Amino acid sequence: EGLLPFEHEPYHAFQDEAVAARQRDAFRAVREAYVGRTFPLIVAGQEVQGDGTFAVRNPADTRETLWHFQNATPAQLQQAVAAAQAAFLEWRRTDPLQRASIFKRAADLLRARRMEFNAVMTLENGKNWAEADGEVAESVDHFEVFARETLRWAQGKAVYPMPDEHVTTVYEPLGVVACISPWNFPSAIPLGMALGALAAGNTVLWKPAGETPLSSYLMVELLFEAGLPRNAVQFLTGTDDVLGDPLVDHPGVRMIAFTGSKEIGCRIYERAARVQPGQRWLKRVIAEMGGKDPTVVCADADIKAAATGIVQAAFGYSGQKCSACSRVIAEDSVYDDLLARVTEKTRALTVGLPEENAAIGPVIHQGSADRIAQFVEAGRTTARLVLGGDTPDTGDRVGGYVSPTLFADVDPADPLFQQEIFGPVLTFTRARDWEHAIELANDSEYGLTAAFYSRDPHKIAVARRDMHVGNLYINRKCTGALSGTHAFGGYGMSGTNAKVGGPDYLFWFLQTKTVAQRY
Ligand code: NAP
Repeated sequence: EGLLPFEHEPYHAFQDEAVAARQRDAFRAVREAYVGRTFPLIVAGQEVQGDGTFAVRNPADTRETLWHFQNATPAQLQQAVAAAQAAFLEWRRTDPLQRASIFKRAADLLRARRMEFNAVMTLENGKNWAEADGEVAESVDHFEVFARETLRWAQGKAVYPMPDEHVTTVYEPLGVVACISPWNFPSAIPLGMALGALAAGNTVLWKPAGETPLSSYLMVELLFEAGLPRNAVQFLTGTDDVLGDPLVDHPGVRMIAFTGSKEIGCRIYERAARVQPGQRWLKRVIAEMGGKDPTVVCADADIKAAATGIVQAAFGYSGQKCSACSRVIAEDSVYDDLLARVTEKTRALTVGLPEENAAIGPVIHQGSADRIAQFVEAGRTTARLVLGGDTPDTGDRVGGYVSPTLFADVDPADPLFQQEIFGPVLTFTRARDWEHAIELANDSEYGLTAAFYSRDPHKIAVARRDMHVGNLYINRKCTGALSGTHAFGGYGMSGTNAKVGGPDYLFWFLQTKTVAQRY
């Protein structure tokens, strides 16, 4: 079977009633199959219980408990690391073709269960249908891309030859990789990190976010079903006092692949730098963190297209994406027109139940809603509130519902402009001209994504050169990176720039061996 050509997994057309009916059926089936159940840890290939369990609640109405997961014990963390170390000795020797075949099979298994995975994600983290579907499609893409990357990296790289030596450069795996993931992309993000590790021949400690463990559990089981040895991934859930610092500090862990907040990412980076007794390596860390992503709109831009892109990127999944547009910086002459268009489109967004595919659902929990409200309250005195800023009426539902909120005339020094809010809050800032707009866009400790709207080749060339971000999108929205095509990862405090889904990602999970042989 040939691996090429590669095509991105298409999205479901939910506007087609037959497709929508299948998604509704999947919600019913998922509720029947999983709600009320308690799921195990997976350590050394065995399903085991921890020390008590925790409940996962539906963010759309937290009165509903969905399912329960285990709290791993410190002893189970030790067992998991030991099992992952033992499994590494075998998994590292597997034929890359075998690894690639497992990923290909997993892609097919996931294709057949997309509606189910969509439904589980919507229930766990409140994504609407299209957002969940996009992410599960990305997970299928990850399987396909990493199958190919496994084989590509197995070939080593050419070196400049010597007449009397045979010299090769090959890549070898590192060991046990702890993969620690956030709740906002509970399928594609843990999977991307775990596949990076596994494709390279490492074994994995898979630690999902507490809000979204079932999206991970089902993916781990799917990998096993596809043929992954059951001890190559240890699936661990529980509390941060057991699986936070102790996991990061463990001398048996060779690498940490983290995606999440700047605060935790920096903590991990720092702690992992300390060499623990018995540790025989410097830990490698990749940490992909937050964003404060700008959209720059030049006077000559297609303002209609910019408004559409901005609203999608700012309010999709209630702005809870690291790539979400949170700052609009527009040239003076188009600022008012753009603001009016964005306001009109934002006003049309309805807040409601993600399970019913509302445009805007809840944020992940009340704590997050409260944090967003603090930014909004402060913003009322420092900027001009154009829209939102309140709590929408969602009946008697209990959840962190936040109205899409627009602030205009936001000063670059304002926390609204500088700090990651991670909710449906968008700011507008006026620029004197397009060069000033680029300057303002770069005025951030983050540097993840940005969008730049202009028709002028010169301005575009300058933006390509000067915008300080890992993912720059010209004349399109700044969300929606596709695996294999838009290698994803930021500059500055957005992280280590490992670029998941890109041609160099596997390098992070490998070490390089040069062998020179004379005859
Ligand atoms: P978070 O609070 O940093 O949590 C991420 C993960 O770290 C969770 O699994 C969490 O476990 C775990 N954790 C907590 N304390 C830890 C510790 N001391 N040591 C090790 N791990 C620890 O982030 P989040 O709220 O889930 O995610 C939102 C953030 O992720 C945003 O800032 C967003 O921008 C960022 N993000 C970045 C990217 C990117 O590619 N750059 C992509 C998506 C999201 P528990 O859940 O059990 O506490």
